Amino acid sequence: MSNSMTRFIFITGGVVSSLGKGLASAALGALLQARGYKVRLRKLDPYLNVDPGTMSPTQHGEVYVTDDGAETDLDLGHYERFTGVPARRSDNVTTGKIYSDVIAKERRGDYLGATVQVIPHVTDAIKEFIASDLSDEDFVLCEIGGTVGDIESLPFLEAIRQFGNEVGPERALFTHCTLLPYIPTAGELKTKPTQHSVKELLSVGIQAGMLLCRADRPIPENERRKIALFCNIRPERVIAALDSPSIYEVPLTYHREGFDDQVLDYFDLDRSLPIDLGLWEKIADRIREPEGEVTIGVVGKYTSLIDSYKSLGEALAHGGIANNVRVKLDWIDSEIFDAEDAAIHLEHVNGILVPGGFGERGAEGKIRAAQFARERGVPYFGICFGMQMAVIEAARHLADLPSASSTEFGPTQDPVVGLMTEWVRGNQKESRAMNGDLGGTMRLGAYPAILAEGSKVQAIYDEPTISERHRHRYEVNINYRNRLEEAGLLFSGLSPDGELPEIVELPDHPWFIGVQFHPELKSKPFEPHPLFTDFVRAAVEQSRLV
Ligand code: GLN
Repeated sequence: MSNSMTRFIFITGGVVSSLGKGLASAALGALLQARGYKVRLRKLDPYLNVDPGTMSPTQHGEVYVTDDGAETDLDLGHYERFTGVPARRSDNVTTGKIYSDVIAKERRGDYLGATVQVIPHVTDAIKEFIASDLSDEDFVLCEIGGTVGDIESLPFLEAIRQFGNEVGPERALFTHCTLLPYIPTAGELKTKPTQHSVKELLSVGIQAGMLLCRADRPIPENERRKIALFCNIRPERVIAALDSPSIYEVPLTYHREGFDDQVLDYFDLDRSLPIDLGLWEKIADRIREPEGEVTIGVVGKYTSLIDSYKSLGEALAHGGIANNVRVKLDWIDSEIFDAEDAAIHLEHVNGILVPGGFGERGAEGKIRAAQFARERGVPYFGICFGMQMAVIEAARHLADLPSASSTEFGPTQDPVVGLMTEWVRGNQKESRAMNGDLGGTMRLGAYPAILAEGSKVQAIYDEPTISERHRHRYEVNINYRNRLEEAGLLFSGLSPDGELPEIVELPDHPWFIGVQFHPELKSKPFEPHPLFTDFVRAAVEQSRLV
């Protein structure tokens, strides 16, 4: 349970979706942190999936994995990147999860004969979730997915209304994000959609205490006063959320508009204490004025929605910040290599990255990308599926195993990548059935790896043991280790029991590393991940050669 001093800020959205509520929440978290407060960020998602793990990345965007093995919404990635607070399972919940818990309780007979209803049983479960797994946080920022007025959001809005009433206005603030569209023919930012959205929120009993209005230009005083008047909010708490040249400038932009100041004012907290934004200014400067540029070709399958690779794009940008260069990304659909020569699309890039992925479609193209990188000495970074494809490539072309493949694509004579049904986590054995559920059954979350003495990765991490987050069902088959190592592919990171290959590398290549985990999930702008920093460094070097 939370302590009696924890304050709760609920962030809802209205008018349209995709307003960047997640980013706004993350930026506010960073600002409160810069004021010396301890924060935690959470997301309540109104959809019926138990978690986003089974959703298509091109619909929902990336699935963000936590250390404790939860598959969560990509906004948790923003939260972690902006605050450095590792996200946990208890930071994201969906309608599906709430209902499955309530129904499981009903089946156990825990409701002692009561008629189980949305109010109070579902709303109680939501409130319990909001206050669970907290200790000495000063602020909990709780974002509600979706848009006010959606049928699905109603139980969540009712729950936060009750919650706010129970802890009292001195410990709860409702912040509503809206849009002020600019109508060129009228030459005005229009406030009516915002007024309607605030009214919609009021119709479920929630009076917004602060508004965050997305706009492409400053809000004229007149419009601000109008919004304040009609929405029953003080004019200084109508904050302009102006478009920012980079997401890492958002904390600075919002600070200038008085967002954190007004939050402190609302809670009657001291506003005069100094705020240290030096970190964010430094990051913004580096992004604004890089000293060079490199191009990375990202060869994947979900390139139609860049959000599918959210953390990856960010981690590459962080690698750029570390090297003081801009990292330009060329998103290449791997299926293109089925018909065309890889060289046409990869000749100009300074590094090739094959990210995580699922299924056979596009896999041969990724194998070709790995082959191109290996043969041409172009830096190659294979992540999860990208490592598995690099291993298949090496098996086929270096170790003379032409039929090497993954059992993910069907039975094969040489399963250099195969389904794992049993593995070790700490002192425990984890297992999955061959034909079991797809949801929540992958090897998920943080696992340690031991790095080989003298390997490239050991030099990059500068540590003997690492911990990284996983999300996969298949593994590189350890039984092929000797054969592949003889052919030149070093298994430079292994699980502590030596059974699961975690990292492979080509010692004789400028930079060729494949990792079974997802390092992009832990990279931050103020703490770029060492693998991304070094990959971008290698790409800079490569760019000097051409
Ligand atoms: N499809 C592969 C597996 O399940 C890789 C998963 C991934 O890249 N995240 O093992």
